[in-house]
Order: sequence, then C-alpha cells, then structure tokens
Amino acid sequence: MQFVDEVEIDVIAGNGGHGCIAFRREKYRPLGGPAGGDGGAGGDVIFHAHDRLSTLLDLGWRRKVKAESGENGRGKDQYGKAGRDEIVQVPVGTQVYDAETGELIADLDEHDKKVVIAKGGRGGRGNIRFATPYDKAPQRAEDGEPGEKKLVRLELKLLADVGVVGFPNVGKSTLIASVSRARPKIADYPFTTLVPNLGVATLGPDRSFVLADIPGIIEGAAEGAGLGLRFLRHVERNRVLLHVITVDPDPERDPVEDFDKLQEELAKFSPTLAERPMLVAVSKTDLPEVQEALPTIREGLEARGHEVLAFSAATGDGLDALLLALERLLKANPRENLPPPVTRPTAEDRPHGDAKGFPEEPPPE
Ligand code: GDP
Ligand code: MG
Repeated sequence: MQFVDEVEIDVIAGNGGHGCIAFRREKYRPLGGPAGGDGGAGGDVIFHAHDRLSTLLDLGWRRKVKAESGENGRGKDQYGKAGRDEIVQVPVGTQVYDAETGELIADLDEHDKKVVIAKGGRGGRGNIRFATPYDKAPQRAEDGEPGEKKLVRLELKLLADVGVVGFPNVGKSTLIASVSRARPKIADYPFTTLVPNLGVATLGPDRSFVLADIPGIIEGAAEGAGLGLRFLRHVERNRVLLHVITVDPDPERDPVEDFDKLQEELAKFSPTLAERPMLVAVSKTDLPEVQEALPTIREGLEARGHEVLAFSAATGDGLDALLLALERLLKANPRENLPPPVTRPTAEDRPHGDAKGFPEEPPPE
C-alpha cells in the first residue's frame, strides 16, 4: 500500500456568466425596455470531509479540480443557470494550505465538514438591472467575475486505526517498528515535541492499517499532568486500542495493576474511550520472567473480561496472530461507528502552553 499524505492540486472555481444586453421587442416600439438577464454564478469548489476515506490517494491523480461556470444571461429576462459546485471528498483530518503562501485555508477535522476552497465568480448583471427613469434603454451589462483559482497543498495527518497504549517501556514502539512495512512521513505530524511512532502494518493487498504508539499516558494524564493529554485526544480518533502490558523490572509494579491504572486514566479522560474495543497483549514473551508471569496475568485479565494475546517483538513470536486479531477487530469497528470526539482544550489548542498545566515539553519518559 502506498501511503500518500501530501498532495498538490489546482482548484478552479467556475466563472460567473456575463450579464446580457437585450431589449423587448414590441410591435410599435423599437426599444421595448431592457430584457437582458443576469449571468449565473460560477460553481464553488467545496471540500467535504468523509470518515470512510483514509488517504489522499484518489486526489493524487486528479491534479486539477474544476467547478462549472455559470451560464450567460439571455434576452427575454432569462437568467443564466448557476454553475454546479464541485464537491471533493477528502479524509477527515485533511488540512488545506495555499501552496504559494503556505497559509492554512481549511482544516477538515470533522466528519461531514464542508469548506469552500475556491469561490465561484458572481454572475454579471444584465441590463434589466440598469434601467432608471432617465435611462430606459440601458446599453450596459456586467461581465461575470472570474472564479477563484489556486494551487493548494493537502496534508493528511494520519489517523491511526489502532492506538497502542501502555506504560512506558512495555515495548510499544518496538512492536510498531517490527510490524510496519511503511513509515509515513512523520515531520507533518501535529505533535512536534514528541513524535509518536506511526507505522503501517500490511497483511496483504488492501489489508493495511495504521498503528500509532501513544506515549506518555501516565497517572494523572487526564488532569493534564503529563504529556499524555495531547495524545489522548488523538487516541479518541483511534478505532480500536491495543493495550500492551508486561513485567517491569521494578518489583513494585504488577502487570495487572498497571492495566487497571491505565484503564482508569482512559476512563477519566473520556468514558467513550474506555469503552473502545480493545485487545490486551503481553509483550516480551522471550523473557523468562514474562513467560513465568503469563498464567497469572491471563487469569487476572480474564477475570476482568479480557482475553490476552502474547507476543515478542524481539523474536517475532505471536506477531502474526496479533495483527490478524487487530484486523478482525477493525473490520468489526469501521470508522463511521466512532462516537464523536469529546471536545476539550489541549496543548494543541494552546500552542504556547498556559498556566493550567499544559506543558510544552514532555516529561522524560
Ligand atoms: P515503549 O516505551 O513502550 O515504546 O517501549 P520501547 O519499544 O521503547 O521498549 C522499551 C524497552 O523494551 C527497550 O529497551 C526495548 O529494547 C525493550 N523491548 C521491546 N520489545 C521487546 C521484546 O520483545 N523483548 C525484549 N526482551 N525486550 C523488548
Ligand atoms: Mg515508545
């Protein structure tokens, strides 16, 4: 699978139709009053965000998007027909920039959001509109305005299908690196201070999904104590979660307790998130202490209603089964079934941080 996350296209709105100069023809009056209609408005180019799309691939080959021009006005008071709008479907998360100035034109961050990217030209007025008591036969009409034209750059911040959550050092990043065939360009990711790991797992043609490592979910994250909050908002866009646990070298830690704590954090941030379909997997099964703890972990999680998968990114053991299980879960949970995101301020909304605990720099993991 090719992963296009940046594309440049020309958008050209329709021109307005010209206004018409015409006169009524009546038997005994050579100039029977103005009858030239207005030109129709040019069509707009509108971008429409849709859930079902996840790449900009389809736009990549279009290069040019054009809306219909308005028809010219005609005699006998006839108005020109307005040009049809051109509606282009783009994936949710697409940002549209003016390619020349770099200015952000639109952020299609919600399903069904529509933004006019290039405005169609106004239709010119026909001579009907210029009649006055002093000038009953105006020889004037306007030209239609040209439609807006611009070169735009579309950027898609990838929406991960699978959010990988877990305590620091459980092996989230390593997992993503080992199952990924493609590494989407990461420079465009909205979080600049700490770049999450993003990868595309490919099981076959048309069988790919995007995984994102969600770092920094620690105790208190839902209150904004950690960097986690910035990422939590992103996790809300994930269709399913993969919760990774393992045996930490710290003897005070317990994998099942870790699981409970992290679930609590998720629930505090967003109840809908805590209900997101989730797989639980134990990592680092190549380590003897993990093998040893596995039955106890299984028992603890089964008591909580979760089946547990196990894998080792180091040896590759269990990875295929894990990807297949994720794929199955994704199929059962299409993006259009996602609940709407819980809107709340995050550091993204306040790029310079503020006094309420939105740190600019992540705490060291
Ligand atoms: P993250 O913080 O959850 O992203 O964890 P990392 O992927 O950075 O891994 C933390 C540490 O665990 C690193 O030292 C990895 O080398 C190690 N690690 C990750 N996966 C495995 C594994 O499958 N087996 C073993 N033995 N170590 C692993
Ligand atoms: Mg990591």
